[in-house]
Amino acid sequence: MVIAGPCAVEDRGQLLETAAAVAEAGAVGLRGGAYKPRTSPYSFQGLGEKGLELLAEARERTGLMVVTESTSLENLARVAQVADIIQIGSRNMQNFPLLTAAGAYQKPIVLKRGLAATIREWLDAAEYIRCAGNEQIILCERGIRTFETMTRNTLDLGAMALLQHQTDFPLMVDPSHGCGRRELVPALARAALAAGADSLLIEVHVHPDQALSDGQQSLSPEEFGRLMRELREIAAAMGRRIASIEGGQHGTAA
Ligand code: PEP
Ligand code: MN
Repeated sequence: MVIAGPCAVEDRGQLLETAAAVAEAGAVGLRGGAYKPRTSPYSFQGLGEKGLELLAEARERTGLMVVTESTSLENLARVAQVADIIQIGSRNMQNFPLLTAAGAYQKPIVLKRGLAATIREWLDAAEYIRCAGNEQIILCERGIRTFETMTRNTLDLGAMALLQHQTDFPLMVDPSHGCGRRELVPALARAALAAGADSLLIEVHVHPDQALSDGQQSLSPEEFGRLMRELREIAAAMGRRIASIEGGQHGTAA
């Protein structure tokens, strides 16, 4: 499953145009934060409820599943009402009350790896969701902090290889936050698929240079379209396939 869209929902035009473009290129899900966990309080914080309404409208128009983040207990119920898949972000990987509360919803949950979390800590965090009664957990590798400074994070594809032996949870890779640089995203996305990821989460923006967050790591629709074609070839070579929503079928995982 390829899930794509902007880092943040910014306005109606941006979201609907980006959604149409990623659907056209073959994504099955639309990502986009309505509530944004920003490192600085002075950065754009997201549209909140208005953003959720726009995501619902984009789903209506495109048939894409909505993947969006709950950043706190306070917005979880609102997010769960709209999201087809609830995202728990890196900064909240060990927010145990949030994990437990999210686990009470019978919706798939994307659990992103913490900025500096070990694989064991990540798996333990997933258990909090399982213990709350929800086993629909997708583990998302999004890069970890290392001594390297030329990339935003270091994408740990070794974790993908390891997790296939450690867990039955589906595995997702977010190459965008994993490197922070648009020109590196396609190579990492291809590598993630080849390493056994079941799903990819990719930032795409109709006008990356005008994005209110993470524009430098967002692909344009053209770049995303090219990447999707490459991913189909890699999937085929591995005897897998990229899920599609054609015929109204929401992605059976690749
Ligand atoms: C995101 O995917 O929008 C995000 C904030 O990512 P992370 O939690 O991995 O930093
Ligand atoms: Mn982002």
